[in-house]
Amino acid sequence: MTMFHEPLSEEAASRIIRAAVAASSPLEIRGGGTRMLSSGQASRDVLSSTGLSGIVSYNPAEMTMTAKAGTPLDEIAAVLAERRQMLSFEPLDLRPALGTSGIPTIGGVFATNASGPRRFVAGAARDSLLGVRFVNGTGEIVKAGGRVMKNVTGLDLTKLLAGSRGALAFLTEVTCRLLPVPETAATIVVSGLNDAEAAAAMATAMSMSVEVSGAAHLPESVCGRFIGGRLPEGPATVLRIEGLAASVAVRAEKLKALASFGGISSLNAEDTGVLWREIRDVHPYADGTARPLWRVSVAPTAGHQLVAALRLETGVDAYFDWQGGLVWLRMEADPEAELVRRYIKALGGGHATLMRVSAAVLAATAVLQPQAEAIELLSARIKEKFDPAGIFAGTSASEA
Ligand SMILES: Cc1cc2nc3c(=O)[nH]c(=O)nc-3n(C[C@H](O)[C@H](O)[C@H](O)COP(=O)(O)OP(=O)(O)OC[C@H]3O[C@@H](n4cnc5c(N)ncnc54)[C@H](O)[C@@H]3O)c2cc1C
Repeated sequence: MTMFHEPLSEEAASRIIRAAVAASSPLEIRGGGTRMLSSGQASRDVLSSTGLSGIVSYNPAEMTMTAKAGTPLDEIAAVLAERRQMLSFEPLDLRPALGTSGIPTIGGVFATNASGPRRFVAGAARDSLLGVRFVNGTGEIVKAGGRVMKNVTGLDLTKLLAGSRGALAFLTEVTCRLLPVPETAATIVVSGLNDAEAAAAMATAMSMSVEVSGAAHLPESVCGRFIGGRLPEGPATVLRIEGLAASVAVRAEKLKALASFGGISSLNAEDTGVLWREIRDVHPYADGTARPLWRVSVAPTAGHQLVAALRLETGVDAYFDWQGGLVWLRMEADPEAELVRRYIKALGGGHATLMRVSAAVLAATAVLQPQAEAIELLSARIKEKFDPAGIFAGTSASEA
């Protein structure tokens, strides 16, 4: 029978892990369970972080916070909002797109390195993680990193665990750096560009001294689905600027130099907030279907080339974030994993993660980007150190 373990302390988690090792019984680590793609091992016992919940310390002056891994993300966002602070990396809420209903936890966010539109300028979740506490695969309780950036002890361990997807250790507590919420924000919209022209316009915007904090291209096929259809007709290339009101106004004016590329208009702070949340959360593909959805990261200049090449061979819909380097791809029928990964390789390399797919197709498709042989070997050695008995199932390509 499948067991669901919900420890209330690190010590209890340690005892559960030691017992699992003794019984050679693998554990699937779970936060809020908002992911749709399960490891496919329904019979595995679950080790849940939801019993480890609550903010341990919050220091608004230092802009740091420590929270137990199972703390709901909403709870953290609400406490930070009272002091007009926020997590710097805009974690995604993929529940509408994945059709799931759990409550995302801060541990799950760091375990997946979940990072939104600001990542290409402000870094990923991993970059704001200062320290972690965790239980490894032998049941040892470990503390790595610290509350201030100056303390470099164990910093690499911390970085390693961000994005480890439950394969190395059970995170019990995370400490991260925060940012102030910008006073205001605006979005400049350049209309009518094809995907290649948009890549050029975004590169130009990024080279200007205007501190763009979001650069996305929404082709005509998706444009009408954002902010209730209020974007101008046709494709929209959108550029976000944030900060003090006077500075945003000056920088927005400067960005109007992009009129040489296409029609220019702008969005106020309220529409800007909605638009970038929808870009972040893959709103156009929250369509109630299980049509395959890929999250592909490549060089900013390669995104539109990838989509153009795929369009010649298969039915695909797409839009671009991170100055063109993050491509959300919805396939019309099959995931076409071999095709997607072959083109990514030909265009200089990158990562394709299958975020949504029907259960039948999942069994035959690698969810994560297969690793190069040298990295695979390195990963195996790291896994061996953290989890010598192989007790943590993780989400790995080989399981899919
Ligand atoms: C294959 C796959 C890839 C994904 N990639 C991304 C991505 O690149 N960017 C993104 O924004 N979202 C990604 N997601 C979605 C992400 O899982 C959720 O959006 C959310 O961040 C996770 O929160 P949760 O608490 O519901 O975690 P869950 O859905 O419960 O777990 C998510 C992952 O984190 C691990 N995990 C959860 N809690 C802990 C813990 N305390 N200690 C150790 N490991 C833990 C789990 O084992 C699992 O691998 C991905 C999902 C899947 C299935």
